[in-house]
Amino acid sequence: MQALALDDYRAIVFFTGAGLSAEAGIPTYRGAGGVWASYDYETYACQEAFETDPDRVWDFHDERRKRMAAAAPGGGHLVVAAVQKAHAATCVITQNIDGLHQRAGAEDVVELHGSIWRVRCRCAPRVRPDFSVPASERRCGTCGVWRRPDITWFGDALPAAAVQRAMESLATCDLLISIGTSGVVYPAAELPRLATQRGARAIEINPQATPVSHLYDTVLRAPAAEALARIFPQLSAPPVAEA
Ligand code: NAD
Repeated sequence: MQALALDDYRAIVFFTGAGLSAEAGIPTYRGAGGVWASYDYETYACQEAFETDPDRVWDFHDERRKRMAAAAPGGGHLVVAAVQKAHAATCVITQNIDGLHQRAGAEDVVELHGSIWRVRCRCAPRVRPDFSVPASERRCGTCGVWRRPDITWFGDALPAAAVQRAMESLATCDLLISIGTSGVVYPAAELPRLATQRGARAIEINPQATPVSHLYDTVLRAPAAEALARIFPQLSAPPVAEA
């Protein structure tokens, strides 16, 4: 496919999943080497598991935090941030919880599945940007209840405000670029349809076919950074955002 000219589009949406962060060294969830191949989500990533053994669930998420903290944004994250910088009406909607879009320089990212860097409590949210929650602080000192990672586990509802913002952006964009998502996790997988139903140009970037590939006008069966460099050659090697 030919390179895209940003000026040809009024409003752009990137809809991203674990495949984008795979290039930063963070395993995807499904497939060979994916998180769920080694860890059963019923034991580690649902409210019931948390209520059964909160320390086990916290240990799992602390390990993931360490891995994510050690990762640097990949080339794909940098291109997405560069597009947003060059074209203000660009919305980044992600299912990723790792914060790598923001670390690459993207702003106002819509986090459909929350963020592993936030901790949720009945009495107040708390942000911990770069390290694990000490075992002594897993229970809230104020209300005494177990804090939990502010992410969407299996069986949880998606955060309503994020869903609302995602729906608004998708319904009004004229270019949708979906990157590295398997399209099997609902309701997130359903959201891109809002853009395609309204006639937005839609591009899927994923080395593998997905159950929603048919929604897209163009499918690029390539890794994220490589495909984005093809689409946005003028932005494919922006300066690294992090010090
Ligand atoms: P996924 O693992 O289901 O799919 C990843 C996709 O990326 C695959 O389709 C794969 O082909 C593709 N891919 C692999 N390498 C790529 C590359 N280099 N470039 C482009 N694409 C590549 O991840 P998803 O679609 O983001 O699914 C969302 C999932 O997030 C949810 O199902 C849930 O399991 C997970 N999640 C988990 C937690 C938790 O740990 N508690 C929290 C939030 C979300």
